[in-house]
Amino acid sequence: MSVIDIEKWTQASPLLKEIIQLHTVTWLNPSRKKISAIQSLPLSKEDMLKAEDVWKRFAPYLAKVFSELKSSNGCIESPLRNIDNMQEALNQFYHIDLQGKLLLKCDNELPVAGSIKARGGFYEVLYYAEQLALKNKLLKEGDSYEVFASEKFKQFFQQYAIGVGSTGNLGLSIGIISAQLGFKVSVYMSADAKEWKKNLLRSKGVIVHEFEGDFSEAISKGREATNATNNGYFIDDENSKHLFLGYSVAALRLKKQLEEMNIVVDEEHPLFVYSPCGVGGSAGGIAFGLRQVFSDNAHSFFVEPTHSPSVLIGLITGENEKICVQDVGIDNNTEADGLAVGRSSAFATAISSVMISGVYTIEDNELFKLLYMLGKTEHILVEPSATAGLLGAYKICATDYISKHQINPEKITHIAWATGGDLVPKDDMEEFYFKGKDIYFEAIDAME
Ligand SMILES: *Cc1c(COP(=O)(O)O)cnc(C)c1O
Repeated sequence: MSVIDIEKWTQASPLLKEIIQLHTVTWLNPSRKKISAIQSLPLSKEDMLKAEDVWKRFAPYLAKVFSELKSSNGCIESPLRNIDNMQEALNQFYHIDLQGKLLLKCDNELPVAGSIKARGGFYEVLYYAEQLALKNKLLKEGDSYEVFASEKFKQFFQQYAIGVGSTGNLGLSIGIISAQLGFKVSVYMSADAKEWKKNLLRSKGVIVHEFEGDFSEAISKGREATNATNNGYFIDDENSKHLFLGYSVAALRLKKQLEEMNIVVDEEHPLFVYSPCGVGGSAGGIAFGLRQVFSDNAHSFFVEPTHSPSVLIGLITGENEKICVQDVGIDNNTEADGLAVGRSSAFATAISSVMISGVYTIEDNELFKLLYMLGKTEHILVEPSATAGLLGAYKICATDYISKHQINPEKITHIAWATGGDLVPKDDMEEFYFKGKDIYFEAIDAME
């Protein structure tokens, strides 16, 4: 990116200037299209339904090897929770009476991997394992997938190597499922990855490589090394259709959960979903899935740290993954694991550009404050990144988005997507909580 390009963009978009100055912004996407107006996408609803079938075929295997999945018969899913106390606390703190209902999608409780990465990461590895088994005639149609737990299968997968670059959570999910299946698995960790994540992976027999650089560099190095390995398969967070599909299945599950709670989604009762966003794979996959399920009545918003607005600058400039935050002088330093991403996913961002309603940014301090408030009011503890969606309803209601779409704000169901937390060690979580508490009370003092 040249200096001239950057000057051209900041002139065209005053908002970009704000973003470069690290101010929090809310951007509404002028290119969001009605489903009926979207000509061609690389994926269809059919693909998403097929992905759900892959999950179903593997369910007996997952229930067999992970004891925490017995009760759900091998389905990896998280609860959708009412958080009325939190909504009340947010109303008081921001002096806004939010209309409509705010719910929390608790992927922080996703079994086995403890984060949203269980959706995409597990899916891509399972899909790959199935392809290998079929190609090598280890599997016949109708076989129970419990055979994937057998010594024979584990021995077979030993010949294959899987690699992935990660800031932590993707590595955890890929590492856990790949090692369980028997693959040789290497995780290429960026400098910001937490020590406990590396140790947990090593304890499961995963090879952990550490890098000085950020996520993009860990991905480049991992891609290079894996592709140079015999029988190596690289899971590419910067360009993966399979990760994206794995995430999209969440929309089908969410539809069921909303029905069970007697929550209607239709033109009069739209759904607004707020997703913490790194490369945009999980957020984009879910946004895509929701549009397939609820058509134009699903409105998806992404949220990124002020220091890592990779998808936002990609969409504003129209350069998608070709631009990174460092190109415009932003440092990509944030304590939000999984969101510390300088460059977006090419595959996901191309789709998100016509699917999503907007993006807002948030400061790290705000994340910790929300973490404390959620813990205090609902006894739900999540990692800092996972709180970012909680402000979405408040941010969007302050814009003209709702009036422009002629929506009655009282009839909106808002869902903040909590993306991770359950594997965070207790001491780390306590530290987050008390840090958030300090920030919360400093803010309260400053108001008085
Ligand atoms: C990875 C991650 C995200 C974002 O997912 P992307 O696919 O990178 O957009 C959000 N929250 C948490 C906790 C994550 O680990």
